[in-house]
Amino acid sequence: MDVDSVECLSLPDAASAAAAMDADDVSLARHAHGALLAAAAAARAACSKGGAAVPAVASGVHELLECPVCTNSMYPPIHQCPNGHTLCSTCKARVHNRCPTCRQELGDIRCLALEKVAESLELPCKYFSLGCPEIFPYYSKIKHEAQCMFRPYNCPYAGSECAVVGDIPYLVSHLRDDHKVDMHSGCTFNHRYVKSNPREVENATWMLTVFHCFGQYFCLHFEAFQLGMAPVYMAFLRFMGDDNEARNYSYSLEVGANGRKMVWEGTPRSVRDSHRKVRDSHDGLIIQRNMALFFSGGDRKELKLRITGRIWKEQQTPDGTCTPNLCS
Ligand SMILES: [Zn+2]
Ligand SMILES: [Zn+2]
Ligand SMILES: [Zn+2]
Ligand SMILES: [Zn+2]
Repeated sequence: MDVDSVECLSLPDAASAAAAMDADDVSLARHAHGALLAAAAAARAACSKGGAAVPAVASGVHELLECPVCTNSMYPPIHQCPNGHTLCSTCKARVHNRCPTCRQELGDIRCLALEKVAESLELPCKYFSLGCPEIFPYYSKIKHEAQCMFRPYNCPYAGSECAVVGDIPYLVSHLRDDHKVDMHSGCTFNHRYVKSNPREVENATWMLTVFHCFGQYFCLHFEAFQLGMAPVYMAFLRFMGDDNEARNYSYSLEVGANGRKMVWEGTPRSVRDSHRKVRDSHDGLIIQRNMALFFSGGDRKELKLRITGRIWKEQQTPDGTCTPNLCS
């Protein structure tokens, strides 16, 4: 991998500075996700009256349903040893038929009473502390949590396995401080990617730049990889937020020289979609290497691509209103 030799020169122009000042901060109305069960609503009302996050009884039972080995919530089948020590099914498969608590042989004893209790419970989403107000029957909880919009985001930095997760403001400072990512304000940009020996690249050359506009953050990715047998360069934008918000924005990328240019226009993908997933779906500006070298000019020994781009906000039609002539 030859990351250091890729140079990224940013040339923010006056227009982008002006645009940054114009950026409005209209926060988007978040759609409540998932229909609320009447019971959940009632439970929530009870919670807010009592001022406690979880009714005391439920939290006590919740502790009972915590696997003593891995501390995850237990879901049926819940197992127990002959002495009554409980265990989740994942752990049961790992402990070689010995109870981790008393070392007795485990056998195949289900704990039906606890399974019944589990079914009757309604519990808050595990991202409660991150702001999720939803309460679910035990079984729908897992399904919701996989899609919960309050679940933390993965670090969007590509090129290394970074295990950091968090909300967007946290990840923005993490990218700046720990990955030393370039940060820019404004919704237009003008970027140069320079590489001295483009013949020996591939697969590991990438760049990330973060843009701040419309009160949101966007990741501009640029990288080289093999597409089939052909070396290509690719640039694309990801939105630091959820998919439904990403759809409110569009962007364009342009690359060219010598009176020729290629233009890409698209919708940024959410950072919920991994960098790799976006790359492999070819959802961005793809430049064949020969074209890239042509755009670089000179003696084809050096890659010098100038990519200009713009991010804009799509016209919004608030839910429930009709566009004349389009409503049946
Ligand atoms: Zn377990
Ligand atoms: Zn035991
Ligand atoms: Zn949730
Ligand atoms: Zn990271």
